[in-house]
This record gives sequence, structure tokens and C-alpha cells, in this order.
Amino acid sequence: MKFEDFKYVRPNIDTIKTDMTATLEKFKSASSFDEQDGFLDEINKLRSEIDTMDNIGYIRHTMDTRDTFYEKEQDFWDENRPYLEELNSAFYKALVDSSFRNDLENKWGKQLFTLADMKLKVFSSDIISELQEENKLCTEYRKLMASAELMFEGEKRNLAQMQPFMQSKDRSTRKEASKVHWAFFEENESKFDQIYDKLVKVRHTIATKLGFENFIEVAYLRMDRSDYNHVDVASYRDQVLESLVPITTELRERQMKRLGLDELHYHDELIDFNSGNATPKGKPEWILEQGLTMYKELSKETEEFFNVMTDKGLLDLVSREGKAPGGYCTYIANERVPFIYSNFNGTSGDVDVLTHEAGHAFQVYSSRNFDVLEYNWPTTEACEIHSMSMEFFAWPWMDLFFKEDEAKYKFSHLAGGLLFIPYGVSVDEFQHYVYANPTATPEERKTKWREIEKKYLPTRNYEDYPFVDKGTFWFKQMHIFEVPMYYIDYTLAQVCAYQFWIKSQNNDTKTKAWEDYLELCKAGGSVSFLELVKLANLDNPFKNGSIAKIAGPIRSYLDSVNDKEL
Ligand SMILES: [Zn+2]
Repeated sequence: MKFEDFKYVRPNIDTIKTDMTATLEKFKSASSFDEQDGFLDEINKLRSEIDTMDNIGYIRHTMDTRDTFYEKEQDFWDENRPYLEELNSAFYKALVDSSFRNDLENKWGKQLFTLADMKLKVFSSDIISELQEENKLCTEYRKLMASAELMFEGEKRNLAQMQPFMQSKDRSTRKEASKVHWAFFEENESKFDQIYDKLVKVRHTIATKLGFENFIEVAYLRMDRSDYNHVDVASYRDQVLESLVPITTELRERQMKRLGLDELHYHDELIDFNSGNATPKGKPEWILEQGLTMYKELSKETEEFFNVMTDKGLLDLVSREGKAPGGYCTYIANERVPFIYSNFNGTSGDVDVLTHEAGHAFQVYSSRNFDVLEYNWPTTEACEIHSMSMEFFAWPWMDLFFKEDEAKYKFSHLAGGLLFIPYGVSVDEFQHYVYANPTATPEERKTKWREIEKKYLPTRNYEDYPFVDKGTFWFKQMHIFEVPMYYIDYTLAQVCAYQFWIKSQNNDTKTKAWEDYLELCKAGGSVSFLELVKLANLDNPFKNGSIAKIAGPIRSYLDSVNDKEL
């Protein structure tokens, strides 16, 4: 069956409540492991059905935000998700209290119970109204971002459609485009401030009601982090500052020289070469065809996976009016298939969708046989290893997409990942400040943001944009609003993905690296982050020296490129 034929039916919340409660009661009073295990199957099926409808509804809403049917369905889910969380919570409680817990752990693995323990700590029926408010505010942010209709070069454009202009090789075009882009945020400054301020306050209330000092620990638990804490993360940020920031500062200076500029302004950061950034050499349909070839040649497993994606219409890639911005990959549990969503805009980002988002999709497809929802995806820092590593495993096929721009693409990709990490830790440090200081004013937050940026991104220059210079860059960072503390995950995964890149560059280690990657994908979310890292034979990024270790090989590759010729 194709995606367009997947049936969406709004679930009846009362029926769900009755069914779930009844099955949970039977689970609790089961007199043997086998009996209880049978009810666990039933519960998993029920949860899977709900999750499936939630996801189909969400996908169709983002595909056309003007469709009032699915807009109403979003309201329905926003309203009811907390009740479903309450049911989930009852499920987790029954799970951890089970008198057959040992047998269940033997069959299903420890991770489900570790997750259940964490989820229980961050949910209580006392916080349902706060959770509803949090959901509504996130939707409000999403709508505000999607409402951007920017007039540029005679046409109305959304934020994603401005990207190609913001990295134009013509300096005045990219400067102008950046101004138009930031003007949207400036015009809506008070809205962004209000939404975020309300989010911080409601999250702080949630934390205190749950018995925590502030929201930081709640955010870690929500992110299902079971084997590291904020102290590990703080020392990891220090590693970045010591081992990486000197290199990224050098890379920015190199970029400035390469571009022949005296000063590298913010709007110059997005352009790597005066001859233009690497771009895919064809239209969206053509890019997709190259993707088919790539996954066919890469491995038998990826070939099967990508055929399913195209045959079942599980890709919505091209930008069009009304589509929500951004890109994501999600999973439709009952059909056991992923879905990839993006806004192609003619930049190399289009190819990243086919490697990055497809990496996510390949993982969830590889682990689709787990019957428990919790194991379909790992925790998010582990998820990004699959996607970011796939970007590197795809390197041998980049000539297909970029032709004469292949060398440019690879240079930008490798350097870009490195340049991203200090930004990623800035977003993380900022949020630690925000939630440790819930009474800070919007102005204080902006000042703090700029201070953190100056530490990790010392070359960043917003001289032409006083509005951004006062500390508002983060307005555009969806994760800060919608998924607190998420962002560091991208950097942790990048550090892991670079390890796969290093191995894949060497003929002696590349086959083993791919095998390790397949194992990692198949394991899904059945174990924790650091266990997955170990299973894939990767170095733990928190271990002092891990970042310095990857920096060497990356730097020598970049140094070997005569970038002025590109
Ligand atoms: Zn991703």
C-alpha cells in the first residue's frame, strides 16, 4: 500500500482509555509470565495503532499547513497527547512494578525498563494542563515560522526558499537576502520573546511540580539520557573549546582569505567559494534518481530499503507553498515503514536529505522488527549517528550528484561538520543558562546568548545586523523552542560520525566500518547511547581526548586540499 492510501482515522480517546485500562488491569493481575507477556503484546499493538495515527496526521499536516482537516487534527492531538501520556505512564508503572519483571527484562531487554523508570519521573497527572500549554506554544512557534512570506526579487518566499539567496556567490545578494530573512524575525521579535518566555516559565512550573529544582534534569530525562549527565556534557563542551575552537577559528580565517575578503561577515559564512557552493547538477527528480543508483550500489540492504521508500511514496521532498519548513524523518509503526519529508531548494542540502534523512530512515527500517515502540528509534544522539554517518558512507557517490563540484562538496561537508560543533555547544550552554535562570528576562537571555556565541564562535560578525548582534540568532533554532536540550545531540553524533568517516577513508578498515554501521542500525533503540557507541566500536565522545583524536585526521584532509583552486 502507498502512503496516500494509508488510512487516517481520528482515534476515540474514550475507547482508547477504556481498552488500555482494561488490558493494563489484566496485565497487572496476570498469574504467570506467559500470561502477562501476552497482555504486553496487546498493549503494544494498541499503542502502535495510536502512534500510527498521530504520525500520519502530523505528516499530512506538514505537507499542507493550509489543509483545515489536518490542522484540526493537530489541535486534537495537541489537546489529547497529554492524556495518552497519562496512559503510557500507567503502562510504564505497571511494567516497572511487574512481579515478573526479571522474566520480562530477559525477553525484552533492560532498556525498556530503564526508559520506563525515566519516563515515570517526568510525568504526573498534576502537570497535564502545563503539558497542554507547552504543546500549544510549540505549535504557535511552528505556525509563526511557517507564516513567513518574504518578498525577495519579485516573489513571495518562505524561510527555506531564502537559503539559496543567502549563500549566493554575489555578496550584495546574500547580504540583501540575509537582511530580508532577519527582518522577519525583527518584525516578530515580541512574538518570539513571548512564546519562549511562556515556554520557559511553563517548563519551570512542570519541573517544580515534579519535585525538581529546575527544568534541566527534566529535559535530560525527557531526552532519555540514562548514562551521562550535565556534568559530562559541560566537560565535553570544554573539550570542544580547547580542541576544536582553535581549528574552526583558523578555518574561518582560511575562508575569509579564500573569498578574498578583509572581513568575514555573518552573511559570508554561508558561502564557501567565490565560484559558488557545490550544487547538485539537476532537478529534484534527477537527484532522486541518483539516490536510487547510490543506494543500489552501496549495499544489498540499502537497495531494498530505498526501493520500498520510492515504491510506497514515502518521500515528500520538494518545497511548495503551504508546506511546513524543515525536514524530518518519521516512522509509521503499523506499516513498519519510515517517511522522509523535506523542502528541496536547489542547494547541497537537497542531497543531505537523501543521505542524512535517509540514514535515519534506513536505521528505523533496519530495526522495524522490534515489536516494542521504544526500540524502533534509539535516543536522539544515537539516532544522529546513523544519519550523519550515512552522509559519509555516501561519499564515493557524491560525484553523481555534484559532478565537477565533488571536491568542493567534500571540503564543505567535512569542514562544515567541524564548524557546526561550536555552534551546537553554544545552543546547549545557552539552554543550561535559560533553565537554571527561569526568571531571566528576554533581554538578559539575548545578552547571554551573545556572550556564549563570542566564546565558541569568536569570529562571528553581525555588524550589518544590529538586531542579530544583540543576541537573537537563536530565534530561528526550532529545537530551542520545541525540544529543550536536544541540540547537543547533533554534536555528539557528529563526533561519532567522524570516526566512521576516518575508518571509511582507509581501505583496511572501511568494510568493517560498514558492518559496524549495519549492526548499529539493526540494534535500533534496544540499548542506551553509550552501549550503542560501544557496540559500533566507536570511542565515547565524553572521554577526554576523543575530540582531539578526530580533529587530527580531519585537519590533515582539509590541509591537503588546495581550496583556493576550487
Ligand atoms: Zn537528523
